[in-house]
Parts: sequence; C-alpha cells; structure tokens
Amino acid sequence: MEASLGQKQRQLEFPSVTLSHVSSSPSAPLPLAASASFAAAQPGGHCLRFQDPSSTDPVLDLDLRISQIFRLGSAELLCVSQESGATDADEPFSSAIKIGFRTEDESKSFLSAFEQLKHGVVSPRSGGALENGSLIAAKSKFDHKIEATSAKMYFHYYGQLLHQQNMLQDYVRTGTYYAAVIENRVDFNGRVVVDVGAGSGILSLFAAQAGAKHVYAVEASEMAEYARKLVSGNPLLGQRITVVKGKVEEVELPEKADILISEPMGTLLVNERMLESYVIARDRFLGPSGKMFPSLGRIHMAPFSDEYLYVEIANKALFWQQQNYYGVDLTPLHGSAFQGYFSQPVVDAFDPRLLVSPPIFHTLDFTCIKEEDLYEIDIPLNFIASVGTRVNGLACWFDVLFNGSSVQRWLTTAPGAPTTHWYQLRCVLAQPLYVMAGQEITGQLRLVAHSAQSYTIYLTMSAKMWGAGANQGGILQTSSCKLELKEPYYRLSQPQPYVLPQDQQAQQQLIQPQEVSPQIQGGTDPGMTIQSSQNSEVLDQ
Ligand code: SAH
Repeated sequence: MEASLGQKQRQLEFPSVTLSHVSSSPSAPLPLAASASFAAAQPGGHCLRFQDPSSTDPVLDLDLRISQIFRLGSAELLCVSQESGATDADEPFSSAIKIGFRTEDESKSFLSAFEQLKHGVVSPRSGGALENGSLIAAKSKFDHKIEATSAKMYFHYYGQLLHQQNMLQDYVRTGTYYAAVIENRVDFNGRVVVDVGAGSGILSLFAAQAGAKHVYAVEASEMAEYARKLVSGNPLLGQRITVVKGKVEEVELPEKADILISEPMGTLLVNERMLESYVIARDRFLGPSGKMFPSLGRIHMAPFSDEYLYVEIANKALFWQQQNYYGVDLTPLHGSAFQGYFSQPVVDAFDPRLLVSPPIFHTLDFTCIKEEDLYEIDIPLNFIASVGTRVNGLACWFDVLFNGSSVQRWLTTAPGAPTTHWYQLRCVLAQPLYVMAGQEITGQLRLVAHSAQSYTIYLTMSAKMWGAGANQGGILQTSSCKLELKEPYYRLSQPQPYVLPQDQQAQQQLIQPQEVSPQIQGGTDPGMTIQSSQNSEVLDQ
C-alpha cells in the first residue's frame, strides 16, 4: 500500500517523456520529447527539470513547492505551476504542462516521486539532498496513528465494488444523502465541493447534479479507479468532477472548497476513525465560512433490558463448563471465555420498547471539533428508569445532521426507525443492575481510539440501592465492562418480542433468537446486504 512506498527505491529520472503546453500563453516553448528529472533546489526544496535530449541546458525548471500534479489518464499527468507575471505589477497565473509517459508504471513512479519530494520527504540523514536516490517518506498524520496492516486491510476492503454496493443499497443512507443535497441545491450550485472518501463517487455525482462548479472526489483506495470510470461514464456531470487518488491527509488540491461532503460514519458513529479524516479535510481544504455535509453527529444512549440477549451471550461460554471434554476439564477457561463474549458489543436491530429510560445524547460538532478530541471521548451517563427491571447494559445509536440552507435533514439509525446497515449497538453488562421505576442510573461511557482504526469501550453503570439501607446513600450496585468496538457480535436477529419488564423474572428458559438473513430483516430494503460483513472483515484482522 501507499504508506510503504517511501521505503522503496525511488526512480528520479525519466529519460523519455512527451510534453505539451496546456496554457494559452506559454512562457517558454517546449520540446515535444524530453527527459524529466528531479533535483535538489535551493533553499531546501526540489525542482522538476525538463531537458531536451539534444542539449545539456535545462529547458524548464519547476519549483515543486508551487506546483501541483494531477492524473489525466493511465500514462498522462498534468503539472500545474504558479508563475509570477512578467513584471512585478502583473498578477501571478497558473501554467499547465501535459506530460506523457511510455507506461502507466512510469507515470505512477513519477507521481509518487513528485508528491514525496514536494512534501520534503527526503531522508533526514541526507540533509535535504538525495542519497542514492532513496527516500524515506515523512509519515502523514494518518500513517502516524494507524497501523499499516490495519490501513491496508481497510483500503483493500473499500477498494472492492461489492462493499461499495452494500452502502449504495442502504437506501435510507443513500436516499437521505441524495435528498439532503438536492433539496439544498443553493448550497452546491456554482460551488467548489470536496467529497471526503468518495468511494464509488456517488456523492460527488449528487453534488454535480445539484449544480456544483467543481467537485474533487478524494479516495484513498483502489475504488478511485472505479470512481473515475463512473464519472467519465456520466460525462454531463463528470466533466465537473476530478477524482484524486490518495488520503485526504496527504493529497493537495488546487483550490479551497466551499463545501465538504462525506459519509465518514462507522458503527457507533466513530468506528473506523474516519471522522478524524473528515476533520483533517476540513482544516486542509475548507475555505472560511465553508459548509460541511453532514455538520454534526450525535451518539444517543439509553439503558436497556433484554434477558434473552443476556442469556444468549452467557450461554456461549457454557461450552467451557465441561469437566470431561475428551477427558479434559475445560472449566479453568470458563471465566475468560465468559468475559470474552461480554467484551463484544452486539450489533443488531432491537425493539425500542426494550429501552428502560428516555435516551440522552452526546454531540460531536464536525465544524469545530479538533481531531485530537476524537482520540478519547468521555460521556457521563445519567438516566431515570421508567420501569422497575433488570438493566442489561447500554444501547447506542447515532444520527447526523445536514444543516442545509433550505432544508435541515437528519439521517438517523435509531431503533424503531427504518433500519440501516449500521443497525444499533448494545454493550451488555456481565453483571446486570436492578432498578425501580424512578430510580437514577448513572455512569460513564469512555471511548478510547486505537491504532487499528477503532475504539476500546469502557462502560460503567451504577444504580443506588433501594429498600432498606437506601437512606444511607452510597452506590451499592456498579457494573463495569471493557468492550472492543472492532470485534462486535453481529446478531442479525429479528427484533425481539416486547416483554413486560415485570415478567422477566419468569423468563429464564434459554431461547436462542432465530438467526435470519438481513434480506428479511424488518424495515430494510430487500436488496440490501449489510456492512456487518464488511466490519467483520475489516475489523477482525
Ligand atoms: N462516499 C462514498 C463512500 C463512503 S465509505 C459513499 O457515500 O458511498 C468511506 C470511503 O472513504 C471509503 O471508500 C474509504 O476508502 C474512504 N476513505 C476512508 N478514509 C480515507 C482517507 N483518510 N482518505 C481518503 N479516503 C478515505
């Protein structure tokens, strides 16, 4: 993957390229065939040098710091440079040169050398000069915090059309984006748009439909190639879209954006850590008073009671209760297996009547949050139980807001609302709490990001004792658990029948919810396949 390119030997000379001016009034004539090479330039930067093979003098030197490179085709690049006017009074202008290569591989080598040198990614030992033509890439913010193996699996996953199709076929998701864009044409018409993590390019095409002047579709995975195909196959819209392959943390764009559009949400909103990329893209590409679609997200939480789910999870560890498994006592591992099953957050669609109190929410404002604020998210919990019951844990879901100038639209993943490929998420306590109606439930949900593009979840829930002794105060029941958001249990069951909380004591029999395919999941589109397969693949590395 691209993060490891820097360790490879880098090609810095390209003996045979073709050149042509794109600018209407070129400052210097160019030979049709030339050689191109990268060289150190003072002070501290690098230049791209074109030479006529028949002469030793350079035809043109371009300062990489004021040059941009774009891919025009498989073996053709466009280099745009800023030029000062002929006199000091003249406005600076851009000139562009089309560079043709013999092979696609050559053009790729050129592109990566260009990008790495432009960003000053030379070996520190060489003090700015090149050492045997090898470069050590300066790591981008992304590479610093994300393990290369995780990123490789992640972008491999998104590089496949079937997974993009999963998302496109979530009609609640894609339809809400479409409506939010089209209903807010005024925010897109004549504007420069950046699509952050463009995938198939669908949101870029929506933005172009809404009249965008130009859309930069930034996509790091191989999906960028498919996005190019889709864009060029829709020329009326596609002529206003440029697909830029690379990470939003690393690519350069030629102009600032008026509006960012993105679908960076993972399970529990934050899984995959793409919100951080969205925020980085905001800081790098969005002009002053620019807009973000979506502009904020909210994590909603409420305690739930679901005896079936609790028993189902606890029963998974029963295997390890066997004392004579081919003559071996498995019980020493029962405790660990039990803990292991309870460390998996459960992803499924549940009946909202399982909630024990009205939900609370925690807002993440994408327009002003700092990237670092997403490394650790602390949410204090405070609920009043509506019923007396056993609390089995915390249920979570999210929504995001498209704060359009014409129409405000929410995309919600709430229980009871039409199901999305995100479903909902439940953290199940190994030790339930007992509450009375009107009783306060307090606690904390702490999400700590890790380098495998996900979070460790620390959940604590407490309820004050009732009955005798309650007047002495003191929190007598506390239950805590640590869960791994990257390894959820995809429990694609039908929503459970509503069980009156008072009746729950009588329901101790072990009922395994019937596993059903998501195609017949209530509320989902019949054609929809789920991202859960994605997540298990991406997250179970
Ligand atoms: N916008 C598309 C795809 C959303 S999925 C749609 O709505 O259908 C998120 C996409 O963002 C994936 O294709 C993934 O490869 C890409 N992505 C994630 N992190 C990225 C980053 N840091 N830079 C560029 N692309 C990224």
